[in-house]
Amino acid sequence: MIDKKAVRKRMNTALDKYADYAPLISKKGDLVRIPKQETYWVNIQKLTCTCEDFRRHGANTPCKHIFMSVLWQNSKNHDE
Ligand SMILES: [Zn+2]
Repeated sequence: MIDKKAVRKRMNTALDKYADYAPLISKKGDLVRIPKQETYWVNIQKLTCTCEDFRRHGANTPCKHIFMSVLWQNSKNHDE
């Protein structure tokens, strides 16, 4: 079951932090690289992430990195 509150929280965090992260994000094939203290990899096709939050909660509660990757990918497509 999807916990809407948990999803909304991660989405809001992603939106809040997106401007800081966006210039640092890069892409390698299907993998979006999100660097911070640790580097996380989001698979933009499968919508998976290598972070602890995703490992614990899985695809029903996408982590903030996944939301940021989708934002980044979409804004990138508009530029091209
Ligand atoms: Zn993550």
